[in-house]
Amino acid sequence: MKKILIANRSEIASRIIFTCKTLGIKTVCIYSDEDKFLPYVYHADESYALSESGYQAYTNQNNIIQIAIKTKVDAVHPGYGFLSENAQFAQKVITSGFIWIGPNPECIDLMGDKIQAKQTMGKSGIPVIPGFSISKNLGLEEIQKKADLIGFPILLKDPWGGGGKAIKKVTTKDELKDALFNIQTEAKKLTGSENIILEKYIENGRHIEIQIAGDGQKLIHLYERECSIQRRHQKIIEETPCNFIDPQILEKMYKAALRVAQTIKYNNIGTVEFIVTPDQKFYFLEMNTRLQVEHSVTEMITGIDLIALQIELAQTQKLKYKQHEITKQNHAIECRVYSEDPQNNFTPSTGTIKNLQIPTDPFLRIDHNLEENQNITPLFDPMIAKITTLGKDRNLAIKNMISALNNLKIDGIKTNISFLKAILNSTEFSTGKIHTQLLNENFLESISTQILNLTDSTEAEICLIAATLFSEAQLNPNMPKTTKTTLNKWKTQQWE
Ligand code: ADP
Ligand code: ADP
Ligand code: MG
Repeated sequence: MKKILIANRSEIASRIIFTCKTLGIKTVCIYSDEDKFLPYVYHADESYALSESGYQAYTNQNNIIQIAIKTKVDAVHPGYGFLSENAQFAQKVITSGFIWIGPNPECIDLMGDKIQAKQTMGKSGIPVIPGFSISKNLGLEEIQKKADLIGFPILLKDPWGGGGKAIKKVTTKDELKDALFNIQTEAKKLTGSENIILEKYIENGRHIEIQIAGDGQKLIHLYERECSIQRRHQKIIEETPCNFIDPQILEKMYKAALRVAQTIKYNNIGTVEFIVTPDQKFYFLEMNTRLQVEHSVTEMITGIDLIALQIELAQTQKLKYKQHEITKQNHAIECRVYSEDPQNNFTPSTGTIKNLQIPTDPFLRIDHNLEENQNITPLFDPMIAKITTLGKDRNLAIKNMISALNNLKIDGIKTNISFLKAILNSTEFSTGKIHTQLLNENFLESISTQILNLTDSTEAEICLIAATLFSEAQLNPNMPKTTKTTLNKWKTQQWE
């Protein structure tokens, strides 16, 4: 491979360019008009303007293929998001004579449909969450019967969904009708899906995923990542290793992940996601057939460049590593920094970046494309940077992360930096008592008191977090009344 087209933008485009440079591979990038000043555009050897704007620009398959033909690249790397899990695009890339840096389109297709994926994995003896596929013609009574069979709470989701979208927890029978209508409408709009998934909701579960790599025959795993700190079903803090699960259970999860990949003769890197119950039973959630946002933590503890591995697997279709060669050391944590307003229900925040200070501390990696005076538009995902820190153990990785967040300054837009710090400083996080629902309800009350005792937080930060919690408390009808009162009182006593 001499030249690669990167069908993506921003931080992940720059990350792929970095590896290509180390491998002596030239890069071609694409950009929409609003991205023309982003660093990745000039990090690449060649960059081409797209005629459309926003998401549309980066998902116009034919335009991208035409640029690949014109620039005579050998391969296409899709990054994550956009076309990375689009089997039709992968096939077009291959049919046009290029190497697709990802698994076979058949693997993408099978895993893209969570219903088909669950059915296939269930048959291979992998534990799957009990559930049903609900077609649009099924009557409410039938659906209610299925929900009763499983028992509330249940979860409704779009089988083709991603990024935590079109997922809804349903706690009681009374909520079912409206929730069904909402998810069916959302799924239709988001992915065009006529069917939805109805499955058991795993209360206080941990999201633990296994990174795997394979060449269609041979397979290895690169350990786990815990991604239980989520908002609206989307990860915001991820780490590896997970010290809070019995090592024997983790071993079983590695084996199960490898079996998942083996079943479909998986041939690149991929991630098998599991949900783990409080009594440490694990269930297959889905498989992501692409590079994951949080791949950096795995790179930090294994020393393996996952993008180099993707490129090599695509080129040679041969996995060079044996399992015993994959070792791990130390602890890594990633935080996703979003341009969003925690005081206003975390709505995306837009504006012009000012007074930008990106720390360069030891034990720190920041993947970003930020620059002074850059416009943050509402056109793309609000994730603006990923911070990864390393430590000899978990506590040191957390300390390094808090220090990095303290040293990261971004004006001109609202960000979730203080919210991330509040989570990292909480006893729940430091003692590992975490699960996918942690950031709701009681936790907000708990961190509100903990924040008051923080010595290194500024008044402004305390105010911001107080406002965040207050906004959440008002918006969340499930929040215990005591919290609302406490926060109200706190608001007047400590803040005004
Ligand atoms: P993971 O890789 O862990 O599955 P998510 O599912 O939370 O992470 O995030 C992947 C999704 O995030 C993508 O499918 C996309 O919708 C969105 N996304 C976030 N940031 C970006 C970005 N910079 N470019 C493209 N997509 C992004
Ligand atoms: P996506 O493709 O959007 O990543 P997933 O199926 O991986 O969708 O689910 C995203 C998140 O939603 C999970 O990490 C978990 O927090 C939550 N979730 C999904 N299914 C369940 C379930 N059955 N029970 C509890 N939580 C779930
Ligand atoms: Mg997922």
